[in-house]
Amino acid sequence: MSTAAGDDNADTAGEAAMPLVHAVNVHKSFGSVEVLKGIDVDVHAGEVVCLLGPSGSGKTTFLRCINQLEDIQAGRIWVDGDLAGYREKGGRLHRLTDTEIAAQRRGIGMVFQRFNLFPHMTVLQNVVEGPTLVQGRAKKEVTAEAEELLRRVGLADMSGRYPSQLSGGQQQRVAIARALAMQPKLMLFDEPTSALDPELVGEVLGVMRDLADQGMTMIVVTHEMAFARDVADRVIFMDGGVVVEEGPPSSVINEPQHERTQAFLSRLR
Ligand code: ADP
Repeated sequence: MSTAAGDDNADTAGEAAMPLVHAVNVHKSFGSVEVLKGIDVDVHAGEVVCLLGPSGSGKTTFLRCINQLEDIQAGRIWVDGDLAGYREKGGRLHRLTDTEIAAQRRGIGMVFQRFNLFPHMTVLQNVVEGPTLVQGRAKKEVTAEAEELLRRVGLADMSGRYPSQLSGGQQQRVAIARALAMQPKLMLFDEPTSALDPELVGEVLGVMRDLADQGMTMIVVTHEMAFARDVADRVIFMDGGVVVEEGPPSSVINEPQHERTQAFLSRLR
């Protein structure tokens, strides 16, 4: 499944201006309730974008649509130049097979509020599982990479433990290492620290900050304003299923233009 490095370079050179994520007029309903009402978002390679907004505004749903965990009723989403879920042929769209969709999703790492580690596997096995089982890569090579990833998230000495023997912050860092083991082009974070005790939030945000510094493209749903202010290249404020305002954190967080953004931020203070 892996692409030759030479091909990747050719793609990058040929499509320098193409955003890594290009979402156009995305509409999503649950039954008769429309929760995304025409979302347009571009995220460029290497960019860190934080999605902010009140509970229920559609942030999680939008992340899940990017990762094809939800179908959309209208609009299009391209990730790394590939139209999510479809192939264009003869001017018509053809739905991809489940296998093809799974292959598209492999380029995206997702970290959830709840860590969802496999409880019966050690930390190392949790990280090794995806690349060996799903990508069919050699165990020896993957194990060496997994150990390096665990070192990067500060858990080199925890590889033989089980998730139940770790704190929430440590489990979330394993979840990040597990997602990175699939060598994603894009990382989606859905409120990764909101289930953690306050004293454990910093260690997870620290790992995310390192990842951002290393150039990973990230979309992060968060209520951590200090993280958004310091780490995001851009913040997007959503409310009621639409993008209300977006821009550099210094503008949107410090000098919000829209009344709804101002009201949301003032409630956090
Ligand atoms: P946010 O992440 O901004 O808190 P969500 O994307 O979780 O918002 O939710 C947006 C709206 O969609 C909410 O009203 C929520 O109740 C609704 N919703 C989310 N998932 C589902 C679902 N699976 N079925 C029905 N309604 C849903």
